[in-house]
Amino acid sequence: MKQNILITGGAGFIGSNFINYKSKQENCSLVNLDKLTYAADLNNIQIPQEVAYHFVEGDICDQELLEDLFKKYDINTVIHFAAESHVDNSIAGPKIFVDTNVVGTFNLLQTAYNYWMHNPNEFKKGYGQARFIHISTDEVYGTLGKTGLFTEDTPYAPNSPYSASKAASDMLVRSYFHTYGLPVITTNCSNNYGPRQHNEKLIPTIIRKALSDEPIPIYGDGKNIRDWLYVLDHCKGIDQVLSNGKLGETYNIGGKNERENIYIAETICELLDRKQPRPNNLPYKDLITYVKDRPGHDYRYAIDATKIEQELGWQAEENFESGIEKTVDWYLEKYHSGLS
Ligand code: NAD
Repeated sequence: MKQNILITGGAGFIGSNFINYKSKQENCSLVNLDKLTYAADLNNIQIPQEVAYHFVEGDICDQELLEDLFKKYDINTVIHFAAESHVDNSIAGPKIFVDTNVVGTFNLLQTAYNYWMHNPNEFKKGYGQARFIHISTDEVYGTLGKTGLFTEDTPYAPNSPYSASKAASDMLVRSYFHTYGLPVITTNCSNNYGPRQHNEKLIPTIIRKALSDEPIPIYGDGKNIRDWLYVLDHCKGIDQVLSNGKLGETYNIGGKNERENIYIAETICELLDRKQPRPNNLPYKDLITYVKDRPGHDYRYAIDATKIEQELGWQAEENFESGIEKTVDWYLEKYHSGLS
């Protein structure tokens, strides 16, 4: 069956990497619905001209628009990335997180249900091959101590307005499976990094500040731990879930790459020392500056990815050290081409 895929948030970091990846496959058409918030950049999308691709500027909170798009493009697959995604912004202004992440997800679910339910060919076969893949985060599980891993059975305990809004959206997705049989699957992923990430996030901030010879801010004592996943590995995992994931299930996606924030900063500084020495030849790590910790800062996230590895045969290909070098190279190329 041809996949007519609605990708929401496809001008953001992960969505654009997914579009670039998916555009290499045949038998699918891609509709990218994005509101073009500050986090979006259409230059992120680099696909061959012959690919069936349509960009629509719009809001997932606009239900009429969603209904038109489902009809116009006969959407049978949704990959839902669109979100407000930055924890610090959610602390400063949480409302938009509820609007987009909760209400927007609800609108998408309801539109998919209305369209697929009333399309007799799909519905007679139990929605046919239709799929709704909801992209979520491991932050819904809250924080870990020094030991333990998040599994799909870990109870939800979100600690920031961002993670709470994502947790609420996960619950809505779950309910549409149990109540209406909507063919949904949720993925909960650890921290992504790689090309095309917005400047506000940790790794682009470290690179940008270093290259402009400004203090590199690190929260608290720098000992917080995240489990890093190279964005292309995430895209491949999502594609596996789309092809072979079991309906109604959730899959944790992580790269087994737990690293302290200070290690991230020091590794990037060492790579830059080699690739782009400071004009004064001093080490970049001299720029690292500890700043006041984020309120409610989760200590540690780490994913147990056994389920997706064993059931779907997915495995992260990059370790942190190989992925971060590719990432630094990409940002250096952007820096040399004069783009900020
Ligand atoms: P991002 O902030 O880079 O991109 C989000 C995109 O969504 C932007 O292009 C933005 O314009 C668009 N958008 C925002 N509100 C919208 C609306 N109301 N209607 C339509 N489009 C809208 O985010 P990202 O890092 O690419 O994350 C994508 C998804 O993956 C999010 O759902 C996020 O929760 C999830 N996730 C991200 C990470 C990570 O480390 N970045 C990890 C796990 C899960």
